[in-house]
Parts: sequence; C-alpha cells; structure tokens
Amino acid sequence: MIPALASRGKRVALFGLGGSGLATALALKEGGAEIVAWDDNPESVSKAADKGIAVADLRGEDWARFASFVLSPGVPLTHPKPHWTVDLARAAGVEIIGDVELFVRERIAGGSAAPFIAITGTNGKSTTTALTAHILKAAGRDAQMGGNIGRAVMTLDPPAADRFYVVECSSYQIELAPSIDPTAGVLLNLTPDHLDRHGTMQRYASIKERLVAGSDTAIIGVDDTFCMQIADRLERAGKDVVRISKRLPLPDGYFADGTDLMEAIHGRYERIAFLEGIGSLRGQHNAQNALAAVAACLKVGLDLGEIQAGLESFPGLAHRMEQVGRKGKVLFVNDSKATNADAAAPALSSFPRIYWIAGGLPKEGGIEPLRSLFPRIAKAYLIGEAAPAFSATLGETVPYEISGTLSSAVNHAAADAAADGGEVVVLLSPACASFDQFKNFEVRGDAFRTAVAAIDGVAPVGGPAR
Ligand code: ADP
Repeated sequence: MIPALASRGKRVALFGLGGSGLATALALKEGGAEIVAWDDNPESVSKAADKGIAVADLRGEDWARFASFVLSPGVPLTHPKPHWTVDLARAAGVEIIGDVELFVRERIAGGSAAPFIAITGTNGKSTTTALTAHILKAAGRDAQMGGNIGRAVMTLDPPAADRFYVVECSSYQIELAPSIDPTAGVLLNLTPDHLDRHGTMQRYASIKERLVAGSDTAIIGVDDTFCMQIADRLERAGKDVVRISKRLPLPDGYFADGTDLMEAIHGRYERIAFLEGIGSLRGQHNAQNALAAVAACLKVGLDLGEIQAGLESFPGLAHRMEQVGRKGKVLFVNDSKATNADAAAPALSSFPRIYWIAGGLPKEGGIEPLRSLFPRIAKAYLIGEAAPAFSATLGETVPYEISGTLSSAVNHAAADAAADGGEVVVLLSPACASFDQFKNFEVRGDAFRTAVAAIDGVAPVGGPAR
C-alpha cells in the first residue's frame, strides 16, 4: 500500500467505497488523513466501517472543513449530471480529486524519482499497460501495474527510485488527476466513446490530452485526427513528442511496417523490434499497442534486446484475442471483450479464414460496420438475441446458422473448421454485450474456454496473464 502521506493531518471527504474506493480510503487513513467516507450502498459503508474507516453521510458534514474531496472514478463528475457530492464540494470550494492524483502527489513528494508510465486512449489501454509492465518485469525491473487495470493504484508499493509504475488511466481518472506528470505519457487513439459521461468528443479528447500534456515525453498514436492534432499542438508548445503509427511511415517516431517495428529519425528508418510469430500481438491494432510499449520502455531506459525478449514472452490478456486452444490446423480464439462491432473488427481483420461465433445482446448498428470483413468469414454461428438481426445483415453473402447457445456454436464451428482442411480459426468475437445469456464478458469468455477444452484433442497454446 502507498500511505497518502501528502494528506497527513488534513480532513478529507471520500465518496465511493467499492474496491478501489475502499483501498484509497485505507491509504488515506494510513497516511494520517482525517477521513470521512460514504457510499450509497449500505453494504460498502459497513465494510469500510469494519476496516476502521470513519463513515458518515456526507450530506450532514460541514464541507468548509474539508481540504479535499476524493471521488471514485465511477461516480459522475459532470455528465449526465454531477453527483450530489460534487455539487456540495463545488459549493464549498473543495478540490475534487481521485486516487491517481493521490498517487501522483506521493511520487512528487518523493522527488519524482520513480519512473512513471501512464497510458490512456479509447482502445488498447489494458493491452498496452499489461504489455509494458510485462516487458519491464521480464527485464528484471520492479514493475508496479495498476490503475484502471488490476489493482487500485494506492495498493501498489510506495514510490522508490528503482520502482517502475505502469498505470492505466481512464478519462474519469485523468479528470480527477490535475497534477498528473508521467515520465512517459501514452495516448493511443481517440474515437467516440463514453460520450454519455463526457458530453462532446472535444471535451472527451481534451481530458485525454491532459495526460500527455503533463508528461515529460508524450507518446501519441497519430492514426486518427484528434490525436494527430494533439501531437501537433503539444509539439508547438515545446513538449517532447514521440509519434507512433500502426500504418504510416512517419519521418520521425516509430511505426509498423507489417510486423516490423521501425524507428524513424529524419526520414531514415531502422527496424528496432518485430512481432512476427508473436501470437498474443496479432493484428494492426496490437502493432499500435506494441509501438507504444516499446517507445515507453525505451524512454525509461530499457535496451532493445530486453524489449524484444519481453514482446516475445507476452502471454496476452484474457478475453482479448486470447488463444485458448489448438487442434491440428484449427486455432480457437476468445475475443469475448469485443462487445460491439468496432471492437470485433481488429480480431476479424487479424485472421484470413474464420469460423465466427457472434451475437448476444445487440448494440445499435449491429454488424453492418463489419461488412468489408465478411469475405474472411467461412461461416457464422449466431447466438443470443442478436441472431435474427445479424442473420439479416449476413444475408446471402455469408453462410450462417442460428446456433442459439454458445456451447452448440462452439461444437458446430469446431466440426466445420476441422473439416475445412486449411489453417483456420474458430473465433468468439461477439460484437454484442453478454447480458442476455451471461453475467458479463468474462463469464462468456470463460464459458467459451471451457467448451473448447472439452473438445477431444484440443491442446493449450500458452496461457494469458490473469
Ligand atoms: P481497453 O483497455 O482500452 O478497453 P483492451 O486492451 O482491453 O482495451 O482491448 C479491448 C479490445 O479493443 C480488444 O479486444 C481489441 O478488439 C480492441 N483493441 C485493442 N487495442 C486496440 C487498438 N490499439 N486500437 C483499436 N482497437 C483495439
């Protein structure tokens, strides 16, 4: 745990006592803050009280006496409307911060010696964070990974000069971290997402920009217009900007040429790493993630040999193009995290011949955006409520069956794929939410893994980081 020593002796209000909120409350208490915490869920409140946290309904508190208000990132700061605690804090002029800000303050108090890589973007955050932390660990560094992935940031070990932090930041966390100042800040990409929580795309982009604007070196994926403009703006402002591109040979920066990762200096190119044969980093989207990880690791002092070794041993993340088994020429891939068409596109783009399991609770637009990828689909196996709509979109172009359940889809797809005779993939990339048949995408992915493991003759293909 990182005791929040910068808050010692201060009176701090905290709202949101879920997993990360409770961990933050404990870090504040340990650091010597006088904390008053609350949550709408009575169970969370009593759990916190059991751990010795002072709890009280914040409606009844004198807000003028609070030095800070710590808000859980899941609680609305602005959209659709500010939470009542936010109104109270604003009325009393109390700063509103989150756990990442508390971490940043502890690191600054320690002289900012600990290398700190912060990662954001619309897609690929978790993969890039896990990959970066993996490369550091594989190179023997003390890598602490947390934030929006895995552990709450204040549960990590306290900052020290030889301790490397790799922190995934959602927009919500950035909005609550005004002092964020990473050694390397990574902004992967920006596409419309979570606009219900952020209002407009401009506002969403400007929040993401803060992470790179505060960094010593800003590593920015310039494959979309928003990020390109951010890179240009920061460079004009004198910031050290490193551009990365998954498809364009940049004059300066890092880019992917197929599976080769290239460094460009004034138009001169050199291959510095490669992804050929690395099953956990298939696809152009993963080239973007890998370029970001490589650039960040170089910035914090790793050498190319260490980085290549880390890329090659990366096990991947569960439910994101996770290779769960192989039988002869058939590879089974779990991409259950792909809960909409945009998220399913990278997986469908990564394999030439696919037995595709899709469906669940449909999202607006269905699978129409995937039409250009239909020629890769040997056959589709449709499950859940989306099946009729998806079958209408597939129409005459793609052979399909309505399998109904995931287990029958797996069995039918496996049999057809085995009969195909070529190198093929059975891919679960549903392009749908899971809630009609499963509790969440993890449970759906686990069910897929179990169904695959039950097929005679399926062998495992390395394991993902879980
Ligand atoms: P996040 O943490 O930002 O949600 P993940 O790393 O968990 O991202 O990946 C989620 C899904 O997003 C993946 O299954 C993949 O389909 C897609 N994805 C991953 N990386 C990228 C990227 N760089 N660009 C676009 N899509 C991506």
